Amino acid sequence: MRYTTLLFDLDHTLLDSVASERASFEATMRSGGVDDPAAYFQAFVEINLMLWAGVERGDLSPNQVRSMRFEQLVATTDLDSDPIQMADQYVVGLGANGDLYAGALEMLETVSQVATLALVTNGIGEVQRARIARTGIGPFFDAIVISGEVGTSKPGAAIFDLTFAELGNPERETTLMIGDNLSSDIVGGIDYGIDTCWYAPADTTTDLAVTHRIDNLLALPSIVSGAQLPSAPGMPPAQS
Ligand SMILES: [Mg+2]
Repeated sequence: MRYTTLLFDLDHTLLDSVASERASFEATMRSGGVDDPAAYFQAFVEINLMLWAGVERGDLSPNQVRSMRFEQLVATTDLDSDPIQMADQYVVGLGANGDLYAGALEMLETVSQVATLALVTNGIGEVQRARIARTGIGPFFDAIVISGEVGTSKPGAAIFDLTFAELGNPERETTLMIGDNLSSDIVGGIDYGIDTCWYAPADTTTDLAVTHRIDNLLALPSIVSGAQLPSAPGMPPAQS
């Protein structure tokens, strides 16, 4: 095996977090008496992205994002619902909605037979724990490290230190970080000195020195085994 330790991101990598966020937002708005949730969704997405970038910089904690995203939504739109009540309902909805991507379970079953797996996610503990329980992926992972629980986030080294310690300090040379997010997963992996696998649609590029790139989770087992050589940095994957 080329890689014997695999670190997985959760949101937008294994789990369809777009569907999760959309369904939860709609339910939250409707129970607050909002007739047209879609009218506020884009504003919410932008606020949410901006706040999670603050988490990556170490300026905010996931638990601060939990309430701030609705406080800012109320402050910048004509919504007059209670932001704390919306925040509470939204995290319940996030845990309850969103499926694994097609092929994710099959891929985890395959690679878990040849490698040790960890989940390393920037997120709120109650949300991610509910999703892990609901989708049944927990048993695949020897370590589940959630930034909202451990107090440190990707891309910083500390969350990788914690993960490596929980796994019994595996070799960095045979460890691979798999994720969709360039600023947290890929920069985090590169800075920590481990190989990276960027899970991304084929029409985007990057100047970062990603080791592998896939647009289909079922392409991962051949990378893990070493059957597929590294792709050129930032280039679309050779196969789809
Ligand atoms: Mg992600």
